[in-house]
Amino acid sequence: MLPEIKGLNEECGIFGVFGHQDAAQLTYYGLHSLQHRGQEGTGIVVSDGKTLKGVKGEGLVAEIFTADAMKELTGSAAIGHVRYATAGGGGYENVQPLLFHSQKGSLALAHNGNLVNANYLKYQLEAQGSIFQTSSDTEVLAHLIRRSGFPQLKDQVKNSLSMLKGAYAYLIMTETELMVALDPHGLRPLSLGCLGDAYVVASETCAFDVVGAEYIRDIMPGELVIINENGITSERFAISTTKAICTMEYIYFSRPDSNIQGINVHTARKNMGKQLAVEAPIEADVVTGVPDSSISAAIGYAEATGIPYEMGLIKNKYVGRTFIQPSQTLREQGVKMKLSAVRGVVEGKRVVMVDDSIVRGTTSRRIVNLLKEAGATEVHVVISSPPIKNPCFYGIDTSTKEELIASDKNVEQIREAIGADSLTFISVDGMMKALGQEGTNGYCLGCFTGNYPTEIYPDTLQYYYQK
Ligand code: SF4
Repeated sequence: MLPEIKGLNEECGIFGVFGHQDAAQLTYYGLHSLQHRGQEGTGIVVSDGKTLKGVKGEGLVAEIFTADAMKELTGSAAIGHVRYATAGGGGYENVQPLLFHSQKGSLALAHNGNLVNANYLKYQLEAQGSIFQTSSDTEVLAHLIRRSGFPQLKDQVKNSLSMLKGAYAYLIMTETELMVALDPHGLRPLSLGCLGDAYVVASETCAFDVVGAEYIRDIMPGELVIINENGITSERFAISTTKAICTMEYIYFSRPDSNIQGINVHTARKNMGKQLAVEAPIEADVVTGVPDSSISAAIGYAEATGIPYEMGLIKNKYVGRTFIQPSQTLREQGVKMKLSAVRGVVEGKRVVMVDDSIVRGTTSRRIVNLLKEAGATEVHVVISSPPIKNPCFYGIDTSTKEELIASDKNVEQIREAIGADSLTFISVDGMMKALGQEGTNGYCLGCFTGNYPTEIYPDTLQYYYQK
């Protein structure tokens, strides 16, 4: 799988409904609002209380769920998924939800995150006779559940979840139940809401707003929520939990109108911009943000410094996602097609360009060039994340260690490589301050600091260091 031009790729998004006659339609709208989390494939599985039926395909939500496809999806419970392939690659068979039928009944799974011991478990399961339908890590859970010796499904699920390591927000649906599980570190966001008497679950709260659902609370690390005709119950499947939510969700991945653990993403980004104004006070004429995810931070920087915010860069929203780029040249051409500098805004000006991250450096170099070609006299780059020095093992495609420009270059070397007049990354402490935190407890900072909240299995390490 070749990387998308932005360098940092989204993970996946999940959405579920229980107890609503329009479950599939609500899921469609929910997935639509989570489309930024994955554009490679999408699916919905619906339950009418007796059977599970699914529609899935490679493409965008609006492309896969045609009017005819939606007519098939009748029932009062549904789960859906938008996919960016982080483990196991792309392909139709890896598009979720995965649907399994057995003598004991049917089971559908939707997963956001990445398991770090999936291969280890797969070896064990295959040795015991399991045959995997997909190359995705998600399927491991279905095999563990079906092989579990416990009589009750709830205990089979709890026992199986306790064997998984890494990041997982799971929706598990049978004919009569919806189960919602979050890993013991709560690495990925997952929220619970309601719509009348129905329950709704989503990776981001922006999906609740779209379907008119009310936010109830975030799912807790190590929690298994079970929703069925008797109502909702909550259990723990992990004895010890240490919260470590992904900080990149705030910096880049989530939508600005989502709230994660009570913190609005736009506000967090704006605070990061304000913090950067303290850490990198620059004499300049205009501030501009790289659309879309850096605009909030750019507004914060402009507000704090008094330098006017301008639309110095415009994104062509109709280019589509250039997620398969066969060469460096074409990747750079992709950037050119996607972004334009506004000459009337930047010509003859000293520009502060705010971006959320630098991964390989290629994109930043192109954008600095665009601004200079459009007549900017100086381009000062400020970045609302600390340098990304390490890969992510939890479902964010940050590239391999050797591809990360900050893994072996210092700030001055990166500045030189991207052709900027100055370069500042937010500090880890500054980023935490922007999130309203004193220390780093409760957050994953693995890609910045190299301190990961879970152990990393050797084959996973090898994949990210040598692929
Ligand atoms: S390593 Fe980085 S991208 Fe991955 S979960 Fe942790 S903070 Fe997020």
